[in-house]
Amino acid sequence: MDLGLAGKVAVVTGGSSGIGLATAKMLLEEGCRVAVCARDRDRLAKVESDLAKLHGAENILATACSVLDPDAMSGLAEEVGTRFAGCDILVNNAGQGRVSTFADTDDKAWKDELELKFFSQIYPIRAFQPLLERSGTAAVVGVNSLLAYQPEPHMVCTSAARAGVQNLLKSLSVELAPAIRVNSILLGLVDSGQWQRRFEVRSNRSQSRADWLAELAAAKGIPLGRLGEPDEAASAICFLASPAAAYITGARLEVSGGVSRFV
Ligand code: NDP
Repeated sequence: MDLGLAGKVAVVTGGSSGIGLATAKMLLEEGCRVAVCARDRDRLAKVESDLAKLHGAENILATACSVLDPDAMSGLAEEVGTRFAGCDILVNNAGQGRVSTFADTDDKAWKDELELKFFSQIYPIRAFQPLLERSGTAAVVGVNSLLAYQPEPHMVCTSAARAGVQNLLKSLSVELAPAIRVNSILLGLVDSGQWQRRFEVRSNRSQSRADWLAELAAAKGIPLGRLGEPDEAASAICFLASPAAAYITGARLEVSGGVSRFV
């Protein structure tokens, strides 16, 4: 199936690692020009140079900034507009989860988490809205989590924030229509940066990565028996972002190996 992505301009927040990086690569392979942002300059510079070698420097723009800085988001939108003369796709992927129960989440942690989850959608969407409205095939994909519908007490503030984000994206799918489609993917467990960080602080230091991942998949009861790969999340994101999904808006797509228990 031709996704119709060739020639499109895409922005991927958090494009220097894991799912964001896999998405940026896939969009470039499909013939898009791609802008990525993330905070760590050195890691981003390395990604920019690797992607430029494979896909041409003219097709990639990498800007070090935080999605939580509204001025930086406006600046990025201006840069993308100048460099690529428009924008068709915004993938709001930047972020990470917070592991904490109600008892050990203080007010600052609550505020930080709510800010990260909500404003990592709000600031980029607001900044790119004018460019997206001129696209003709515009799409926003919000990277969200099953926690929105299936909260985990040990991730209490992430779960609550994810539910709110899902609600926000649904409202935006109506308010921004018909010019901009807004969809979300709900991730289960995908083997990327955040699981690597948790592996590094595992209690059994002698356990191999493969054994640790297998144990995790079994403990979580994932029907497909393993964590997802970043490319598997990226495929779903690229589909929802593409003209092949032209009649899909306000939808959620699970990429979880079947681990959700809600219907
Ligand atoms: P990674 O840690 O591999 O990548 C996260 C990316 O986001 C990095 O590029 C990071 O770069 C960037 N980032 C984080 N905060 C900001 C910020 N404030 N501004 C700009 N960039 C930022 O994570 P994943 O690929 O696993 O996760 C991608 C998304 O999917 C995240 O939002 C995550 O919460 C979500 N998710 C992932 C799941 C999983 O199992 N992997 C499950 C559920 C949701 P830098 O640090 O340099 O800024």
